[in-house]
Amino acid sequence: MPQFGEEFLSELRNRCDIVTVVSRYVNLKKSSSSFVGLCPFHNEKTPSFHVNPAKQMFYCFGCHAGGDVITFIMKSENLTYPEAVQFLADSVGLHVPKNTAIDSEISFLRKRILEMNRVAARYFHNTLMSDEGKPGLEYIKKRGLSPQSIVRFGIGYAPESWDSLVKYMHSQGYSDNDLKSAGLVSVSESKETRIFDKFRNRVMFPIIDYRNNIIGFGGRTLADDPAKYLNSPENLVFRKGENLYAINYARTNKLGALILVEGYMDVIALHQAGFNAAVATLGTALTPNQARLMKRFTDKIIICYDSDAAGKNATRRAIEILKNVDLDVKVVTVTGGKDPDEFIKAYGAEKFRELLDGSSNDIEYKLGEIGFKYNMDIDSEKAACVREYLAVISGIKSRVEREVYTDRIARETGLTKENLTAELENIIRKKAIEEKKTEEKKIYSELSGGKAGTGFRTKKNIAVSRAEGDVISLILNFPQKIEQIEKLISPDDFITDFNRRVYTVLCEKLKENPSGEPHLMLSSLFEPDEVGILMGYIMEVGALSVDGDEIAAVAERLKAEKKKKDASAGISDANFQKYLEDLKKKGK
Ligand SMILES: [Zn+2]
Repeated sequence: MPQFGEEFLSELRNRCDIVTVVSRYVNLKKSSSSFVGLCPFHNEKTPSFHVNPAKQMFYCFGCHAGGDVITFIMKSENLTYPEAVQFLADSVGLHVPKNTAIDSEISFLRKRILEMNRVAARYFHNTLMSDEGKPGLEYIKKRGLSPQSIVRFGIGYAPESWDSLVKYMHSQGYSDNDLKSAGLVSVSESKETRIFDKFRNRVMFPIIDYRNNIIGFGGRTLADDPAKYLNSPENLVFRKGENLYAINYARTNKLGALILVEGYMDVIALHQAGFNAAVATLGTALTPNQARLMKRFTDKIIICYDSDAAGKNATRRAIEILKNVDLDVKVVTVTGGKDPDEFIKAYGAEKFRELLDGSSNDIEYKLGEIGFKYNMDIDSEKAACVREYLAVISGIKSRVEREVYTDRIARETGLTKENLTAELENIIRKKAIEEKKTEEKKIYSELSGGKAGTGFRTKKNIAVSRAEGDVISLILNFPQKIEQIEKLISPDDFITDFNRRVYTVLCEKLKENPSGEPHLMLSSLFEPDEVGILMGYIMEVGALSVDGDEIAAVAERLKAEKKKKDASAGISDANFQKYLEDLKKKGK
């Protein structure tokens, strides 16, 4: 993360009082020395979200989110640390000092391309609204877009001309090279010095990223050009595999999910009908990067692709990609219309909401798709079909749910439930053996200091975590005691990677800046979730006194836990089995 100067950050904190900022998101009530409200990060009926004006920090006793004003903005607006700092600075008109490393040539060019895109978007939009834009406007109206949608999505028109954009951009001070770098023009193959408008006679859809930058364009032809849609070429700011259309609006929606559709028109139709959670890929199949982008904003995706064969294929692929990043996936099948746009036109928004409510989960969708492929009157096909069914069902964790689906398949195929269940258990047993092997590997690595649990709340490792949490809590609450603490405790005394890292980083930072308040340093040093855990140390681990004896006692407890762990590290296979059982018992 780029570092901002201490002076700048303290100025920012002075101007962005945490109570004022949080009040824009949460209805706060004064309660003795702090403010209390309903937590914006989890669902609750009684307030457990506290804001402390003296310490300039927040903490939720329900979901353990916590931190300073920057962490709060990172979590609320889904922004990275530098973005949150910029966001807060903008809100109070504070200038963010330039970082020479960032302000390199590349970032200059980036800015210039974004600026050109903005200028071009305005040009296309104004053209659409002028006489010259009639063909575009007619098309848009025919597709049922409201005037509000045209403005909201900044839709425009590129006239049927070789140089109208080129001329306009020249008049605004941009050179041929500028235009080439932004991908707004094509270069003549025969005469390389000659450039001409890339988008001609097309309805223009500006593509806007989640930071509200116009990063490129999609253009829909109004002629019978074989390329129905044409996108900006990839460049410094436009990567089509890493962005989603309308994510700038959809990232903060009330549905608590994102609706993934195929095209720009589907997105706009859905937003227009009140479903502002809709996004689309940019003319290509869904990529893992796009799945991760969605994951930043939600845990739930509803796929709503076209109902034709291509749409079904795309749905299957998208399910896999989304599942791989642990997203909860549902599928809406649009019947009685080719795509969501047509469906809404034919049946209205209410009916579409019913479709969303009735969306099948990914299991049902997969089973449905498998059933579709096979002819059940042919024995060999039936057998193959059942094998595929069972493979899908074996992935379900709940026994009851598995039974429901097994019943259904028994009914559908005429096979006995007993046979199907026996076969299913076979598959599950084989899978379990595989999984056990992986699990054992994981625990081994945990024991040998690999990835250990980070939370003081994790049930296993509780004694260890408590001892480590006490140390961190001491530092956070009493930073002036750091020298005394460091004399007694070394990073090697820690068992979990997370706490060891926190300890090391905090010691280092407090040495650099002895008068610094550790709880205000956290947002620049750790991820928001980690900051929440550390706030928990301050708020929940709590009341330790800080005389020398107490520090020594904490150090001793930590060393004792470490000793126990070391004793079990050189573990034999027999002991390992016992260790696994102990872990299981402790987990209950
Ligand atoms: Zn909460």
